[in-house]
Amino acid sequence: MSRLNENLNEILEKINNSLSTSSYELDDITLVTVTKNATIEQIKEANELGLKDIGENKVQKALPQMNELEGLNINWHFIGHLQSNKVKYIIDKVHLIQSLDRHSLASEINNRAKNLARKIDTLVQVNIALEETKYGLAPDYVLNFVEEVLENYPFIRIRGLMTIAPFDEKPESLRPYFTRMRQLFEETGEKFDLKDDFNILSMGMSNDYQIALEEGSNMIRIGSSLFK
Ligand SMILES: *Cc1c(COP(=O)(O)O)cnc(C)c1O
Repeated sequence: MSRLNENLNEILEKINNSLSTSSYELDDITLVTVTKNATIEQIKEANELGLKDIGENKVQKALPQMNELEGLNINWHFIGHLQSNKVKYIIDKVHLIQSLDRHSLASEINNRAKNLARKIDTLVQVNIALEETKYGLAPDYVLNFVEEVLENYPFIRIRGLMTIAPFDEKPESLRPYFTRMRQLFEETGEKFDLKDDFNILSMGMSNDYQIALEEGSNMIRIGSSLFK
């Protein structure tokens, strides 16, 4: 068995263990393989192991890969800060933009999506710990922002929320942030009656995905634990 396969099995087992307190089952969880530090060969290997959700955080790395791997069964996730002037390069290739965090970006995505005559799936990124070094909306602004996107940008479909928790050697201490995210996720879905469309809560990375899953995440984004 390859190293990657071993790492994957270990992660799947941990995911399963973390779901004992969750309302989700393993099949409900999307594992996004984060390949920002991986080679194209490693992406192919991951894909052969059945990992079809692949996340990149930079357009200049993602784009050539998207082109080279075009025939493969891959859902590309964009998980990094997205400059408005780069939207045009990925809009027709991306499955889910996880970093919607401002009006100017929403406007650009909407215009490009309109040209393609299809809706683009997005997650609203939340800066749950109000870290200066991170992008995303402050939690208090999320409801307003979602309302404005729903009103003004008909070619954007908001599928849920995403957050990057602070790094902490003791991920247990991050639990309150994940709890708050889940509350915000539920509150948003209920307020705008978004039920079926609004069903993704993307939180949890290598360091903290077990806690995030225990608190109700259904999409985790894993890089270093897979490619170690
Ligand atoms: C790098 C990255 C990840 C994966 O982080 P690991 O600690 O390597 O698992 C997840 N989400 C985002 C937004 C990232 O930039």
